[in-house]
Amino acid sequence: MNLRAAYLLNNTNALDDDDLDAPDHAMTDTNQINPSAAALSDVISCLSDYDPEALPVEDAQAIIRRFIRPIHAVEKVALRSALDRVLAEDIVSTINVPSHDNSAMDGYALHGTALKAGQDIALKVVGTALAGRAYAGAVAENECVRIMTGAVMPAACDTVIPQEFTRDESESGITVPAGAVKAGDNRRLQGEDLKAGTPALGKGKILKPADLGLLASLGIAEIPVQRRLRVAFFSTGDELRSIGEVLDEGCVYDSNRYTLYGMLRRLGCDIIDMGVVKDDPASLEAAFRTACENADAIITSGGVSVGAADYTKQMMAQLGDVTFWKIGMRPGRPMAFGKIASNGKQAYLFGLPGNPVAVMVTFYFLARQALLHMMGASAVEPLPMLRVVSPTAIRKRPGRTEYQRGILSRNGDGVQEVRITGSQGSGVLRSMSEANCMVVLEHERGEVKPGDLVNVILFEGLV
Ligand code: AMP
Ligand code: MG
Repeated sequence: MNLRAAYLLNNTNALDDDDLDAPDHAMTDTNQINPSAAALSDVISCLSDYDPEALPVEDAQAIIRRFIRPIHAVEKVALRSALDRVLAEDIVSTINVPSHDNSAMDGYALHGTALKAGQDIALKVVGTALAGRAYAGAVAENECVRIMTGAVMPAACDTVIPQEFTRDESESGITVPAGAVKAGDNRRLQGEDLKAGTPALGKGKILKPADLGLLASLGIAEIPVQRRLRVAFFSTGDELRSIGEVLDEGCVYDSNRYTLYGMLRRLGCDIIDMGVVKDDPASLEAAFRTACENADAIITSGGVSVGAADYTKQMMAQLGDVTFWKIGMRPGRPMAFGKIASNGKQAYLFGLPGNPVAVMVTFYFLARQALLHMMGASAVEPLPMLRVVSPTAIRKRPGRTEYQRGILSRNGDGVQEVRITGSQGSGVLRSMSEANCMVVLEHERGEVKPGDLVNVILFEGLV
């Protein structure tokens, strides 16, 4: 039995193995990250004015980005299973799509040279071309072929007049009114979607529905993708109870493992839920070691704040190259970041704060991008932001980035506006649940006055 299995058996809070995604057929799998050679201190030394006690969000993001290295492990999966996975190799088209010139409309295929400026022309209909059933005969200049959308263009024909533009239509002939079409109209060219030998999709792309369709149009059944990132997580804090346990006085149910589960699943990670870990050195050490030996990244919540009277920070520091920050952000000030090692294996560590909203905000704005980078995704640019009017004032202090929970809607005039959800306390998870966006108030910014524009990042989009 491997360590992870042993751990899962001994920890009733943890998920059953059945709850984890079954791994796809593995081609190559190092089971290990390709850790950065540099020490965290080397990466940090590149930054001027580094102050771990007051670190701007952008600096924390930059350090994380420079320290993280992508995994290198490729597996082949069936086309449908490639949805939302990271493409591991460039895909070059081996065929032209479409393979022939074909019609974009239902109508009549004709010679563009037959069209005469300012004149109607009469054409004889000599046959029919259907999608998948070409017209094999010759077509003279005074002739045309009835053609359906997607049918191969008959030899020498380069133009299609849509059926509804013709006049005097009969089985034997049509009239093409003057100026109804130009030579070359309504014809899709061979290779216009993709030319044989040209790159169709680049390595690192997260495959979306359109990409699956594109790959299908190339006839590719198996897709090389990066193996899923393995992320282990656990909660720390003696006050935490798992669902199903009695809620003793002063205790709270552990919600962070469920928000983390949701966010990690959405990113397409394999997750190892290690439950609540008791605040004693032996339990914490065992949990960190198990996580490290079985995952590429570890996410913990709780125990990293200034006054934390627990062993979490101590154990993180003992097992690895970990730094502790107070980030200029709200919510989510305290955070630990680095890399820990156990029995020759290494894993990146994100020690998130304990407050439920702070966990989500630090995950979205500090861990998410790093995990995408580890997954080998190329599009890890900042998320698109909208500039939207805030009809109300929002309290904000310069010197920290604030992530307020917002509801984007339309006012009576149909204009988009954003309002903050009720209480913005970092423990008020309802504010996150009610929101449909985050309002990001920049580091330097002060109070928002009614009518000011603010930056908004949407939770949902077309995917
Ligand atoms: P800490 O960062 O450990 O000081 O925790 C800050 C606050 O978040 C405390 O009120 C904790 O009870 C709460 N908290 C920590 N972990 C969790 C969790 N997993 N689920 C819900 N609340 C939590
Ligand atoms: Mg705690």
